[in-house]
Amino acid sequence: MIHLVLLGPPGAGKGTQAERLAAHYGLEHLSTGAMFRHHIGRQTRLGRLAKGYMDKGRLVPDELTTDMLKEAVSRHVDVKGFVFDGFPRTLAQASALDDFLDQSGACVLKALSLEVADADLLARLRKRAREGARIDDSDERVIRDRIAAYYEKRAPLVGYYRGRDKLESIDGTGSIDAISAHLIRIVDRALPC
Ligand code: ADP
Repeated sequence: MIHLVLLGPPGAGKGTQAERLAAHYGLEHLSTGAMFRHHIGRQTRLGRLAKGYMDKGRLVPDELTTDMLKEAVSRHVDVKGFVFDGFPRTLAQASALDDFLDQSGACVLKALSLEVADADLLARLRKRAREGARIDDSDERVIRDRIAAYYEKRAPLVGYYRGRDKLESIDGTGSIDAISAHLIRIVDRALPC
């Protein structure tokens, strides 16, 4: 099994690269943000709860997020592994993910952190908003709050993976192809856990 984690602020390109990694290695791409948007669209109880946080640019509480993620993982049987996109975002989530994977003798192979400067992130998110891809990108204040929420939690999260020798920081600027190639080189070289 190959389990990859993609870290990075909103607009860093996690979704794009997660999709590419999933296609390259034959893995399932799981995005907690996409799952929440799906719940919001279907107006489920979880969707209503999550919306309250997301509309303010805040993180959805750990327990709700982790339970949803575990449920999604459990639904996929006979898969080669997962690319986790937007999860974990907090230390508690990282540790819950490890405990969960550990139950089946699995672990995170690499945590790939896409680094992009704030000015570039804002430009990308504004463009995404103009293209109408994501309604949550249209409010500049919410965008800034989302970026701030990421950095508020980042240090312990990154420290967690660094301490376990799993962290790889990658420059998230440049062509999408070049970044994918870089990520694939890293994953190919990673030793199984
Ligand atoms: P972005 O990274 O561009 O903000 P996402 O689709 O990953 O986009 O997430 C959108 C929103 O969903 C986040 O701002 C947050 O409110 C919520 N969310 C997604 N993943 C998590 C998570 N792991 N923990 C808590 N909240 C999350």
